[in-house]
Amino acid sequence: MKYCFVFGTRPEVIKVAPVYKFFIEKNEEAFIVATAQHREMMDTMMNVFGIEAKYDLNVMTHDQTLDSVVASIMQRLPPILQRERPDILFVQGDTTTAMSCAICAFHSKVQVAHIEAGLRSHDLYDPFPEEMNRRVIDVVSTYLFAPTEKARDNLIKEGIAEDRIYTVGNTVVDALKMITNSFDLPQMRSRIVPFERYILLTLHRRENIGERMVSILSAVAKFAEERNIHVVLPVHKNPNVRRIVFDTVGSNPHFKLIEPVDYVSFLALLEGCWFVVTDSGGVQEEAPSFGKFVVVARRTTERPELIESGFGILAGTEENSIHEAMVSASETKLDTAENPFGDGKTSERIWRIVRGVSQ
Ligand code: UDP
Repeated sequence: MKYCFVFGTRPEVIKVAPVYKFFIEKNEEAFIVATAQHREMMDTMMNVFGIEAKYDLNVMTHDQTLDSVVASIMQRLPPILQRERPDILFVQGDTTTAMSCAICAFHSKVQVAHIEAGLRSHDLYDPFPEEMNRRVIDVVSTYLFAPTEKARDNLIKEGIAEDRIYTVGNTVVDALKMITNSFDLPQMRSRIVPFERYILLTLHRRENIGERMVSILSAVAKFAEERNIHVVLPVHKNPNVRRIVFDTVGSNPHFKLIEPVDYVSFLALLEGCWFVVTDSGGVQEEAPSFGKFVVVARRTTERPELIESGFGILAGTEENSIHEAMVSASETKLDTAENPFGDGKTSERIWRIVRGVSQ
């Protein structure tokens, strides 16, 4: 059997790397195709995990559009699939890379395996275009690796055959364990932030860019000023995000704005923070492993497990609602909450399933 793993963005590398590495450890024939949808952040993350792509589609262009990414991938991936003839192509999550590669595999009659299948916001336009991407990928996949029972239920409700769905946990916990076992996080943290107590903030979602992002930043600024506390914000590379962040809080002394940090440093920041405010999907899944509470700065989440387990609050994007949620976060104790996203053995489960080895 031959396996192809594809990714193009930072979160995909994080969640694919542990599975790819597990397959390599088991001496499987496996190779990576990187689309480089987000060149710099993808490359940095590949270095962290020490993995290399056999093929790099190099699709990123200045001012790229969703359609230009799809078009480039659809031109460049099929010849590779023809040459290599993998048996299974792994995609992860809900990016334009994952959707385009899944369709190419489908056209080439290569089986698709979807890591993190079944996440749904149930609103086709929010998050955009991710909700459409995940639905399309799940339709063309032979192996649907759902991280939780809820994700599995979403797929069953859509009529996907039960024998294609496997509940395996989230590979993000595997990635995180790899990192925490190999690095001294407190030491890394002390190199980035000098303060004992801080809130960690990340913002990047397309649908939050604009007024919503200004409201979120204003709420966080208000809370930080009231409590006289620092906010650490690794500013996403998207120029539209950067403009709003620098215009809104660029001169606020409570904010420490830094460039996006490598994954190890980010986990060090997460481990040491008081609580998190974020619109990121991955960060919602990572925070419970460190026992951290998450204020989700979105109107919807496809990770309801976070809220139900007591690890998070869905705060919306209004200034008042975010501020209120931060006050709740500051009063929350998490002693008994249980991590809903897995145990770090998801990669092994995936390998056993595709190889037909009993669990
Ligand atoms: N992350 C990182 N450095 C940063 C900010 C985030 O390595 O400066 C990691 C974070 O741990 C998470 C992932 O990037 O796993 C999230 O990526 P993003 O928020 O861009 O995407 P999403 O998860 O929402 O798809």
